Amino acid sequence: MLKALKEALSALSKPVTITYPAGGPEEKYSQVPKGLRGKPQFDDEKCIGCGACTVQCSSGADTYHDEGELRILEVKLSKCIFCGRCQEICPEDAIKLTTDFELANNVKGQLIVRLELPLFKCENCGTPITTERQLNKIEERILTQINAQIKDIAKEDLSKYLHLCKNCRRKLSYKLNIHTRKHYLY
Ligand code: SF4
Ligand code: SF4
Repeated sequence: MLKALKEALSALSKPVTITYPAGGPEEKYSQVPKGLRGKPQFDDEKCIGCGACTVQCSSGADTYHDEGELRILEVKLSKCIFCGRCQEICPEDAIKLTTDFELANNVKGQLIVRLELPLFKCENCGTPITTERQLNKIEERILTQINAQIKDIAKEDLSKYLHLCKNCRRKLSYKLNIHTRKHYLY
């Protein structure tokens, strides 16, 4: 009883609420709890467009599709449940849940987080393979992690195959007589 009375009296002398949004424009979101899961955001520099996050998104909010010369990654905020799975799974640390929680908007296009990355086309037939960034990352990972003794062979194989689509790779393997299935076919 005494405690309640004390609180009531102190409320008369100073406000018990905080200003909104959270302290004014300069300090926006300064008072949101640590770890709050808000709007997911791609890192334009780090994302390689591999699509791993889209596979793991259980609500279908995070998707990608290829259009012309581009791979387009999108997070539809109207579907996102802010679970953070995309952030956990990303091998490049390229998608993060920010603390931005004021997402109401009546312009549909603004409810989408979007990133466009250039696609790499097969050097032989022109079919889009994947993003340039992903191909570069594949090459970098193989060459940094492979056994040093076979690094030169790997380099040679990469120079032959990495920039070809799967059909052209298969054809090249037949031509070079190194495709394993060739032995069963002839
Ligand atoms: S955010 Fe990460 S997992 Fe998603 S496409 Fe980009 S690199 Fe891949
Ligand atoms: S936070 Fe969850 S629901 Fe939202 S895009 Fe990421 S994986 Fe999908």
